[in-house]
Amino acid sequence: MLTIKDYILVENLEEAYKLNQNINNVILGGTGWLKLQNRNIGKAIDLSNLGLDKIIEDDEKYVIGCMTTLRDIELNKSLNEFTKGAIKESLRHIVGVQFRNSVTIGGSIYSRFGFSDILTSLLTLDTYVEMYKGGIIPLKDFVDMKYDKDILVNIIIKKSKRLVGYSSFRNQTTDFPVLTCGVAILDNGKILASIGARPHRARVVEDNENILEVKSMENIEKFAKYVSNSLKFDSNMRASGEYRKHLTEVLVKRTLKNLVEVK
Ligand SMILES: Cc1cc2nc3c(=O)[nH]c(=O)nc-3n(C[C@H](O)[C@H](O)[C@H](O)COP(=O)(O)OP(=O)(O)OC[C@H]3O[C@@H](n4cnc5c(N)ncnc54)[C@H](O)[C@@H]3O)c2cc1C
Repeated sequence: MLTIKDYILVENLEEAYKLNQNINNVILGGTGWLKLQNRNIGKAIDLSNLGLDKIIEDDEKYVIGCMTTLRDIELNKSLNEFTKGAIKESLRHIVGVQFRNSVTIGGSIYSRFGFSDILTSLLTLDTYVEMYKGGIIPLKDFVDMKYDKDILVNIIIKKSKRLVGYSSFRNQTTDFPVLTCGVAILDNGKILASIGARPHRARVVEDNENILEVKSMENIEKFAKYVSNSLKFDSNMRASGEYRKHLTEVLVKRTLKNLVEVK
């Protein structure tokens, strides 16, 4: 059971940051994950009053406030046009609409869950996290950073030109994924794949050997094999490591095929 002694609706980020330095205090996202924990919390710090529940867009980027719900991101027309529906695809399997209406992007990305669909898909985009004290950090570096008591304020997605695609595999609808797979074809022709739920945190594999310079079906298969050979896969109650490795090849191939025109 989660027990909260005090609840504080903060007036600014400095107040939230100071309160959060106490080991017994926590920042609240949508509490989807927190409330499953067996934990005594001193002060629960609520950022709801800080206007951080919006997606703001300009010519160069999207800035997504940490309190934005997964559902608001899933339904954002511009983001979905920019990603050709890949963002929506990476969110629509998470539990259900009511759940996605309450859980936040801040809680999701700060937590860096191994099974995270949204972490996998954001890694295929030019994404950064803006931390209150730590500043702006590329998401691919943030993934490997230790948990600290900083506050994730915004997610920034730069509008670098690229084609992205997303797919995942679940044993059963709404369950945690067995494997998550994002792919991107950058403007300079480079290809990358982001694979999560291995069951470890999502990792990006780049086509450094230019396997896909010629986008033939044969080369897509080669790249899919290259991705699965580059990563470590392990077993848990949902699937074996061997199965995940095989699935990686299948999903990378399938997702890339949808993106490139194969002659
Ligand atoms: C039953 C269940 C099934 C799920 N299935 C999936 C799934 O299939 N795919 C998937 O991708 N995800 C899944 N999730 C994860 C979910 O999508 C959210 O990522 C998760 O609930 C965390 O978001 P939250 O807003 O609820 O965070 P909370 O539970 O409120 O917080 C989580 C952690 O993040 C910290 N935190 C929150 N906001 C901030 C911030 N701004 N700065 C710093 N720290 C912060 C909190 O202190 C806490 O430690 C599942 C979760 C649950 C409970």
